[in-house]
Amino acid sequence: MSKKIVIVGAGPGGLTAGMILAHRGLDVTVVEKRSRVGGRNAELRVGDFSFDTGPTFLHQKFTLDEVFAEAGKRADDYLDFQLLDPMTRLTWNDVTLETTSDMARMEANIEAAFPGHGEGYRRFMSDHGRKLKDIYPCLLKPYHELKALISPTLLKALPHVATTQNVMDVLARYFSDDRLKLAFTFQAKYLGMSPWNCPALFSIISYIEYKYGIYHVRGGLCQISEAMAKVFQQNGGTLRLGCPVREVKFAGKRAAAVLLESGERLDCDDVIVNADYAHAATRLFNGRSQPVEALERKKYSCSTFMLYLGLDTIYPDEPHHHIIFADDYAANVSDIQGQQRVSQDMSIYVRNSSVNDPGVAPPGQSGIYVLVPTINTRHGFDWQSQRAAYRDKVLERIERKTGMKDLRRHIIAERIITPDDWRDDHDVFMGATFNLAHTLDQMLYWRPRNRMSGFDNLYLVGGGTHPGSGLPTIYESARISSNLLCDSHSLPYQRVDFAPQFID
Ligand SMILES: Cc1cc2nc3c(=O)[nH]c(=O)nc-3n(C[C@H](O)[C@H](O)[C@H](O)COP(=O)(O)OP(=O)(O)OC[C@H]3O[C@@H](n4cnc5c(N)ncnc54)[C@H](O)[C@@H]3O)c2cc1C
Repeated sequence: MSKKIVIVGAGPGGLTAGMILAHRGLDVTVVEKRSRVGGRNAELRVGDFSFDTGPTFLHQKFTLDEVFAEAGKRADDYLDFQLLDPMTRLTWNDVTLETTSDMARMEANIEAAFPGHGEGYRRFMSDHGRKLKDIYPCLLKPYHELKALISPTLLKALPHVATTQNVMDVLARYFSDDRLKLAFTFQAKYLGMSPWNCPALFSIISYIEYKYGIYHVRGGLCQISEAMAKVFQQNGGTLRLGCPVREVKFAGKRAAAVLLESGERLDCDDVIVNADYAHAATRLFNGRSQPVEALERKKYSCSTFMLYLGLDTIYPDEPHHHIIFADDYAANVSDIQGQQRVSQDMSIYVRNSSVNDPGVAPPGQSGIYVLVPTINTRHGFDWQSQRAAYRDKVLERIERKTGMKDLRRHIIAERIITPDDWRDDHDVFMGATFNLAHTLDQMLYWRPRNRMSGFDNLYLVGGGTHPGSGLPTIYESARISSNLLCDSHSLPYQRVDFAPQFID
């Protein structure tokens, strides 16, 4: 008889594990608290407008292709991918740079905006091809045993990993202009980190973007979760929406069942938890995890202040992705790292996907997604009384810095998510949208393990476990945990590996 697996949460991590394990013949049930799949990657509807709640940049598409193939399917049969070119417009006070994965054009754009820096770009790309080749294999393995730290793959990557340098230090080897360094380091924000604190190894993220490009998915990146849910069910999995889990039931070191809020008990052979790690550890493990105080002492990512705006117009000349850096970016990042001050001189990311994907809004209208990195809820901030004023400040800055000069006049539908809302409505511990920080002492062996320590059969997937937050790494976390689970039952599986075609 096939083993019974219960997965708590239908975010990208839970859905990936679900579709892979169902394909391998296991009897898998995914229980999700909310009424739709996707978690932070779910669709968010505001009136007639469709938004992505969270992720809008898909990079390293080959990892998504791999996990679909591990589930016996082709991602391109379910999703309409669009490689974005140009990728992102970056705006500083006085300079603008349009990024692209076309190397010749990227070099020309850099030369036009930052004369003399084309050579640094070419060197960065060449060095980082080798760096990625060294580091990539380390992201594919579990680190639940200390001996994993002396594996040949990690030893090869050690010079890139075991260094006190940060990504800004790395970029200083290629560029003297701080603004241009930011064009290669702002991606640290995907980890919710400051480029001045983010470990040097993560300079590979901007390389991956600039080398392989970033993708939009028609209908929004939320369609990836919808497609995964479809594959999961086609593979025989059971999806139960609107089913909050109250707790995991243990028998000694074994997770024996999942108890739903309704009182129903789902007995099983293994449990996989996709709910935000620290949220689950404090609420769902019945006191069997670290105490709350220990979890509070850990380092967490920043949070985000979000605006989802339905407009009665389209701004056809505004880019798909636009990042407007704070006038004093270092001070803005330092506010966020300090976790106490909400910057008034803020950096803003604006996504105007209607220019490439008209279907996300009614004809002649468009949806604008605005993300402002800000402090998590560790020290508190009175968002209740400040949210309207902050919203106005953000919109005023967008009007000033972009071609959307009359943005406020065109808003006909709107939703705001504050850090408090991430914590209270989306079950994100401390409202830290990008999970546990990716500091060296919270990575690899020191990050919550894919098979949770202290338990025989409790697995984690998602941004809170190895390899970390960000869609490709979350997909990988689900594959690693699925493989560990299959190993524990001596179930055979074949690894799909498309990466060597790309990482040469
Ligand atoms: C604003 C924002 C922008 C982002 N942008 C990007 C980007 O551009 N590119 C990128 O690669 N990454 C991005 N990320 C990071 C990351 O990819 C997403 O956060 C991703 O959705 C996290 O996936 P996950 O599987 O870890 O968990 P989640 O998406 O959080 O899913 C966890 C699920 O568990 C469910 N759950 C919780 N508690 C229970 C319970 N008791 N019972 C049942 N179910 C429960 C939740 O409802 C949820 O559905 C972004 C994140 C945010 C928030």
